[in-house]
Amino acid sequence: MTANGLTADPELASRLLAAIEAELPAATELRHQIHREPDLGGHEERTATRIAEALGDPGAPWVTQGRLVRIPAGASAYGDSASDGGPARAHVAVRTELDALPLTEETGAPWASVNGAMHACGHDVHMAGLVAFGRALRAVGGPRPVLAVLQPREESSPSGALDVVSSPELAAVPVGAFVAVHMHASLRPGTIAVQGGPVNASSDDVTITIEGRPAHAAYPHMGRDPIVAAAGTVMALQHLVSRRIDPMHPSVVTVGTVQAGTAHNQIPGSAVLTGTLRAFDEADRDLLHATVTETAELTARSYGCRATVDIVRGEPVLRNDPQLARMTATWLARLGLDPHGDMRSCGADDFSYYNAKYPSLMCFAGTGEDVVPGLHHPAFLPPDEAIFDVARAMLAGYLGACDLLAGP
Ligand SMILES: [Zn+2]
Repeated sequence: MTANGLTADPELASRLLAAIEAELPAATELRHQIHREPDLGGHEERTATRIAEALGDPGAPWVTQGRLVRIPAGASAYGDSASDGGPARAHVAVRTELDALPLTEETGAPWASVNGAMHACGHDVHMAGLVAFGRALRAVGGPRPVLAVLQPREESSPSGALDVVSSPELAAVPVGAFVAVHMHASLRPGTIAVQGGPVNASSDDVTITIEGRPAHAAYPHMGRDPIVAAAGTVMALQHLVSRRIDPMHPSVVTVGTVQAGTAHNQIPGSAVLTGTLRAFDEADRDLLHATVTETAELTARSYGCRATVDIVRGEPVLRNDPQLARMTATWLARLGLDPHGDMRSCGADDFSYYNAKYPSLMCFAGTGEDVVPGLHHPAFLPPDEAIFDVARAMLAGYLGACDLLAGP
């Protein structure tokens, strides 16, 4: 522990920062290559291999379509014996996602994708940032080894994080903390949101199937109309967030699809609604499950129909470790970034599966809303400078985790 209370040495941090800067031209080239040739969720092997090779470990173990790359602490593990930097020492895991979205790109970049997939969520920048950080750590060394988690299927289900977190390959590595950085358009460039506590919501899928009785459209009294029951259900669900959840607790009930009928003059036999339920609190999550089910069943019954409700639990709440957030904020400021971003949303990220098991931190790095359109937009294209912000934020998270794991 140094006199300023930080385990990691500011001088070492400066050397790591300089090494990251030296890696930026190659990381930028790599970003363009990954962006030009994106892989969809469930098919990320090519991208995973590129990143593992760039991180200096082409033989890194696979977990489904992803890979786990161990980066040893190196010779200059300061204040520790060489053996402390070895495989038995608790690692800091740093995650990047590998997958692109099924979108047709509209950025006009010379290195735009033409294969119908697109890195419209910034994962290309996250990967390039992790490569710059990981290579710098391999060259300079640090207080602790890193496990670079190259995770598949962040955008699609089944969740890649769930596969990684329950894999024997991850269990074989002692991990003390998990860190990730995600781009966000609502923050200014250079600003990093680093807050303790919940920052993303739990996310559960709901399917409501309403059974009625088919009839000729001109003889509605002969049937039981599931479309009217479905419309009533959509409206009835709107009171749950406004009347049943504490107004100080963020939560969402959104119906995203409504499907029913095949002819304009027929009352169909059934209607199906699908939607998403979001909450920041496990008790609210349980309450939403119960009240959505009750509301759908009773509303359908009042129309002479019958509803069955199927809820599939998805990601838990993403809750940042407050101490890790505080320690990382100190390093962010030292590394030239502004750690004062405020970013909590009812978005969801499967990083929360790690966070349920390890002290974890998800930081959000600003791209600027007026600079580029938001995430998942076909014109989303953060500038190459964002790679440096992501790499520095990962370094800050790593140093913060080293401080955390060193104890008081
Ligand atoms: Zn993403």
